[in-house]
Amino acid sequence: PKYVYDFTEGNKDLRDLLGGKGANLAEMSNLGLPVPPGFTITTEACRKYLADGEIPVEEIATHLAKLEAAMGKRLGDPEDPLLVSVRSGAKFSMPGMMETVLNIGLNDASVHGLAAKSGNERFAWDSYRRLIQMFGRTVLGIDGEKFEEALEELKGGRGDLDLDAADFQRLVGTYKEIVRAEKGREFPGDPREQMELAIRAVFDSWNAPRAVLYRRQERIPADLGTAVNVVAMVFGNLGMDSGTGVAFTRDPASGQQGVYGDYLQNAQGEDVVAGIRNTVPLQDLEKIDPTSYQELLDIMARLEGHYRDLCDIEFTIERGKLWMLQTRVGKRTAAAAFRIAVQLVDEGLIDIDEAVVRCTGDQLAQLMFPRFADGAKNTMLTKGMNASPGAAVGRAVFSSDRAVELAARGVDVILVRRETNPDDLSGMIAARGVLTSRGGKTSHAAVVARGMGKTCVCGAEALEVDARARRFTVGGTVVEEGDVVSIDGTTGAVYLGEVPVVASPVVEYFEGMPSGDELVAAVHRIMAHADGSRRLAVRANADTPEDAARARRFGAQGIGLCRTEHMFLGERRQLVEDLVLAETPAERQSALDALEPLQKADFTGLFEAMAGLPVTIRLIDPPLHEFLPDLVDLSVKVATGAGTDKDVRLLAAVKRLHEQNPMLGLRGVRLGLVIPGLFAMQVRAIAQAARQATKARAEIMIPLVGAVQELESVREEALHILAEAGVHALIGTMIEVPRAALTAGQIAEAAQFFSFGTNDLTQMTWGFSRDDVEASFFGKYLDLGIFGVSPFESLDRDGVGRLMRIAVEEGRGARPDLKLGICGEHGGDPDSVRFCHEIGLDYVSCSPFRVPVARLEAGRAAL
Ligand code: ADP
Ligand code: MG
Ligand code: MG
Repeated sequence: PKYVYDFTEGNKDLRDLLGGKGANLAEMSNLGLPVPPGFTITTEACRKYLADGEIPVEEIATHLAKLEAAMGKRLGDPEDPLLVSVRSGAKFSMPGMMETVLNIGLNDASVHGLAAKSGNERFAWDSYRRLIQMFGRTVLGIDGEKFEEALEELKGGRGDLDLDAADFQRLVGTYKEIVRAEKGREFPGDPREQMELAIRAVFDSWNAPRAVLYRRQERIPADLGTAVNVVAMVFGNLGMDSGTGVAFTRDPASGQQGVYGDYLQNAQGEDVVAGIRNTVPLQDLEKIDPTSYQELLDIMARLEGHYRDLCDIEFTIERGKLWMLQTRVGKRTAAAAFRIAVQLVDEGLIDIDEAVVRCTGDQLAQLMFPRFADGAKNTMLTKGMNASPGAAVGRAVFSSDRAVELAARGVDVILVRRETNPDDLSGMIAARGVLTSRGGKTSHAAVVARGMGKTCVCGAEALEVDARARRFTVGGTVVEEGDVVSIDGTTGAVYLGEVPVVASPVVEYFEGMPSGDELVAAVHRIMAHADGSRRLAVRANADTPEDAARARRFGAQGIGLCRTEHMFLGERRQLVEDLVLAETPAERQSALDALEPLQKADFTGLFEAMAGLPVTIRLIDPPLHEFLPDLVDLSVKVATGAGTDKDVRLLAAVKRLHEQNPMLGLRGVRLGLVIPGLFAMQVRAIAQAARQATKARAEIMIPLVGAVQELESVREEALHILAEAGVHALIGTMIEVPRAALTAGQIAEAAQFFSFGTNDLTQMTWGFSRDDVEASFFGKYLDLGIFGVSPFESLDRDGVGRLMRIAVEEGRGARPDLKLGICGEHGGDPDSVRFCHEIGLDYVSCSPFRVPVARLEAGRAAL
């Protein structure tokens, strides 16, 4: 195969082979833009190198010779050296990989040639010391601090522009000594050796630990490899008529069109972002170098038109001549994504289908979190990792117990820990937000908080947390227990004091409030087209009329899951206790009779709220002992003689009902079969409520079915009750036990609909007890790359998904008009929604708040 491509041979669609940087450099070259000549060594060469340690030496030599011919100079020539940069560039931009080495080709001889030819001695020595510094750090692996310290010492308080040729020459000497001391070898002077070592180092950096970790977290495949770009150097450090800068074709924060960027005179490469001097806004270039400025604006307009999207750009000006060094479709905030998408539609660059595809459900979800008000004057204490989004304010507490205690008194708290462990669970639940000083995005705190939808900032390393003394210090500030802090899970920022929180204008829009906001208008257009395009219906999981009403405002087309067990809590516990304690059929029936009118009222409320849209009601699912008092509390009460006669009987019942694995015990349809009259009571309540409501479309759902026989016997009784009441309702089942998926053809004979209960289906397919594993070892599993994301967050397509496919196929085979949906939490996860579209479900159901996300993703999946 061909391992090396000249820039003139590639194009932007070859990102797999040439990496993002290489493909776009080629594209710009072919557009006729001023790109310094160069070539790209492919990702395929990288994969080969990682397997056998060989790089395509001959092909590289051929392309280098072409480059030398084009430039009329030879690499590292002592009289007039060609210099090159060696730049990594994978398909996806990836922090943690080797960066770039500039000025390759300089050595003790060619530095004089460069000085003579440029007539600028200072520039030549500055370039040389930069080479040793970058090469030493990234290729030889020497701690960069060593070079920084030597530079600071030389400066002795002077600015970098105050240093002269002699200073830089001295620095070269010092840097060479650092190399000698650290590596026991000389800095390699041979230009070709420099180049080859740099290329190998870039390839090796693909497997650097930080890069490996980043890929796991971002779900980037580990076997792509990186490309290497060898580019002729152009110099921004040749004087004040030279410089280097970065630019965006639109504001990546707001999406506003205009000139955005930074420029730095007499500087090279990373200087702009490294903050060696203050940069100037890009607009100022208009005064500094009007010709280059105008050319840059023209190029930016061309790039935007060509890529039909926001681009970011790196450029350098060498003595008044503009050079383009990089472009790519730029990263942007969630708000900018929506704004830019509709702006581009209005400008005729893309159509509305494309605009919808470019706005993701995750971005929409980000826009729905409350956030801190702009312009707040609070001190930012530090910045950690943005582990779980949202804006949380509360009093700092340093133990879970304290968090629980204060929260119970109605105090908002932020739980601050060095790191959390499973014992902190109660504290995390009680807190408004979680802040840790250790651990990354897959730490316990991060994983658990995301699962709970709780705001979390983790790994804020500047914090010194002293749990015993109940305080943390950061910089000079001490925060004691009870002091108010504010944490921003979207940015990772930690503030002292209370930062005002503002509701999301996008949520207000979904709630039906009028708004003149431009972002809201953009979201509206995207959502309207997504709704018009999607095939999947979107329903909500809701148990109360209030939730149901909100879900409808958010666009839900029905209720996909109403959990009836929530209706047995509070004062109704009493009635459940009576049911459990009943000793005769008559006692049991009277307990059920007492529950029935309450249930009926619940359902009437739901039917009214949904006004004729389908409402799927799941009959009672959890084990009955969940409704009984706690074993320990009860034992103590009885043992100390404080218990009543009923307590004594309850204790016996709790002991009798105790199970080792309640998740796999007496629950779901099994309850309905074992406790006579329980399901019948619920079905009667549904039937009566449906008769009474103005409009009602009831769907009765039987949980935890594993065999058609279970369903049949429950169904027969239900049909009888419905017929007696003269009410029509669908009867169907959850598919949440693997056996149900595997025998779906049989089960469909007795079910008018299936709803995939993917929480249980995931638990049972993997054999994971969700309540235990997420906190105990999922962090480790994520670190090990066993999965890139928790299977409870995003559907495991290969395992759980395979069961779903089987069930869809066999279910529809047995009953062509079988209605298919999903009601697990996956129903609101973007990737899972796409999967549900692909396997042909009729609807997804998710929490009311996720309904807009599911609508958007269902639209994107169809486009
Ligand atoms: P990164 O991917 O970290 O941005 P780059 O390969 O883009 O790394 O290079 C780092 C810096 O060096 C950028 O500012 C880039 O513009 C500059 N640079 C790279 N190659 C050259 C070159 N041939 N001439 C001048 N500057 C260069
Ligand atoms: Mg770059
Ligand atoms: Mg279930």
